[in-house]
Amino acid sequence: MAVIINGKELAKKIKEQLKIECEELKKEGILPKLAVIMVGEDSASKIYVKNKSKSCDEIGIEFEEYILKEDITQQQLIDLIETLNNKKDIHGILLQSPIPKHLDINKAFEAISYKKDVDGFNPINIGKLSIGQDTFVSCTPYGIIKMFEEYNIDLEGKNVVIIGRSNIVGKPLIQCCLNKNATVTVCHSKTKNLKEFTKNADILIVAIGKSKYITSDMIKEKAVIIDVGINRGEDGKLTGDVDFENVEKKASYITPVPGGVGPMTVAMLMNNVIKAAKNIK
Ligand code: NDP
Repeated sequence: MAVIINGKELAKKIKEQLKIECEELKKEGILPKLAVIMVGEDSASKIYVKNKSKSCDEIGIEFEEYILKEDITQQQLIDLIETLNNKKDIHGILLQSPIPKHLDINKAFEAISYKKDVDGFNPINIGKLSIGQDTFVSCTPYGIIKMFEEYNIDLEGKNVVIIGRSNIVGKPLIQCCLNKNATVTVCHSKTKNLKEFTKNADILIVAIGKSKYITSDMIKEKAVIIDVGINRGEDGKLTGDVDFENVEKKASYITPVPGGVGPMTVAMLMNNVIKAAKNIK
């Protein structure tokens, strides 16, 4: 049976430390503040934003929410971002995705000052990550790296296979794993014979968005399995992209859903807000 990587516990530990750091900043007159922009009424986004707000509360970070109408123009969105860029009391800006299709999310990410880009999606920060400079690392990949560190899972020389190549998960993960000296393979929907790749993975990171897609016959004995997927069934229950029940019996380490990568993503967002607030000192 695999060791279950407890993202919830680790996230709690990280947030406790951040709370102390937040108090120290406040003593120096810096009140860390996160601004979150939401466009439209996506119900999943509302839950994610609520979780972020709750975590800010726990740590002592100020939280401001900007809810924009669905039919807002690109220019109106950029104008708001620029206003927030110029506000000295705001340290982090986050644009909750998805946003309506008529808006260009990449242009919006580019408009967020790289100094306040706590999600790490601004091209400057993506570039800094790829050349190994200090930056805001996007929260899900960063959370996964923290889990490896906590559980002493060494990536050096390991075959890491990432399934999914999105800008927010798969692509930044490539850099994060390369920086840890792993040999990285990236698979996606056009990959042929996926199983050939997954069977070879010492560490398999799955970010597809398809419930229980990875089954135990697809993994190597004693592999480390990181499940990023969040899929909500008709019964409202959350499942990951990995068939946890069966894969757990064969893996050496595995993350559960819920309670794995999800809480770590929020914890690393909080980490990035505190980092942004420290950067202004
Ligand atoms: P995207 O939909 O942007 O990307 C999905 C990726 O999976 C794409 O690269 C796609 O390939 C690939 N893919 C889809 N089907 C297959 C398949 N059958 N075989 C191989 N690859 C496939 O999703 P995200 O990266 O945004 O999110 C992925 C999952 O992670 C979702 O369930 C999301 O909810 C969850 N998530 C969880 C977070 C957390 O904190 N736990 C944070 C962010 C996301 P292609 O590029 O060819 O289309």
